[in-house]
Amino acid sequence: MRIEANLFCGGAQRALTVSYDDGREFDRRLVSIFDEYSIRGTFHLNSGKLGTPGYIAADEVPQLYAKHEISAHGETHPFYTDLPDAGILADITADKRALEGVGGRIVRGMSYPFGDVDDRVVRILRTAGMEYSRTVASTGHFGLPADFMYWHPTCHHRGAAGKTASELLDAFFAPQRYNRPMLFYMWGHSFEFDGANNWDLIEEFCKKAAGRDGVWYATNIEIVDYINAVRALRYSADMKIIFNPSALDVWVSADGAPLKIGAGETVRL
Ligand SMILES: [Zn+2]
Repeated sequence: MRIEANLFCGGAQRALTVSYDDGREFDRRLVSIFDEYSIRGTFHLNSGKLGTPGYIAADEVPQLYAKHEISAHGETHPFYTDLPDAGILADITADKRALEGVGGRIVRGMSYPFGDVDDRVVRILRTAGMEYSRTVASTGHFGLPADFMYWHPTCHHRGAAGKTASELLDAFFAPQRYNRPMLFYMWGHSFEFDGANNWDLIEEFCKKAAGRDGVWYATNIEIVDYINAVRALRYSADMKIIFNPSALDVWVSADGAPLKIGAGETVRL
C-alpha cells in the first residue's frame, strides 16, 4: 500500500467553505440562505460596530451564527499596516475578547480589514492568538495555504481570474487527474448582494454547491484544525507506519482509496 495524498474529513477529496466580513444587517438574509442549503462558513465581525446602525446586534450573534464560525475582523476595522505594534495588539485583543464574550466560543481566526497585511502584522496577530487569517487576494485555484495566516481564497462571489464563481464551481467538481485535496473558498460581504440587488446569485451558487457527495462543508477553523492534524501525522521512513498524535480522526489516500487514521491511533500498512 502506498500513501499518495492527504484527504479531507470523512475521506473527501473536496471541501467547501465561505467567509463573509463586517457583520452588517444583511447577514441575516445571507445566513438564512446558507442554512437552507447547509453551506457552512465563517463570519468575520467587528465587535466595535455590533449594535450600531446597519450592523448585527451583539445579542443576536449566538443564535444567528449558530451553524457557523464567529471570527475576528478587528474591533474598529483598521488598516493594520498603519498601526504601531501596540495598536495592532490592542485592537485584535479587544476584538477577540468582545466576540468571545458575545458568542461564548474561543475566537481563533480572522480576516484582514481591507485585506491589509504584511509580515509584521502577521507576527503580532499570531501573538494575540490568531491561527489563520483570510486575505482578499483571490487565486481562482483550489489549493491549501502553507501558512494559514496568508490564506488566499479561491474567489469573491463575483468570481476570480476571469471566471464567475459558478464557472469555478464547475472546474472544482470536474473529475481530476490527481487525487489531491481541493478547497473551494469563497468570500465577500452580505451588503454587496443588497447593493447590487443580486441575491439570486448566492441562491444559485448554494443550489449548485450544496449536497454533493464527497464534499466536506466546513467552517474556516474546522478546515484549519483538520489540515493541521493531517499535516501532523508522523510517518516511519518507509511510510508503512503512521501515527496520528492529534485528537481528530484524519484520512489519507492509500492506493487510491481513503484510509482513516483515528485520533491517537497508529496504523501499520
Ligand atoms: Zn471588512
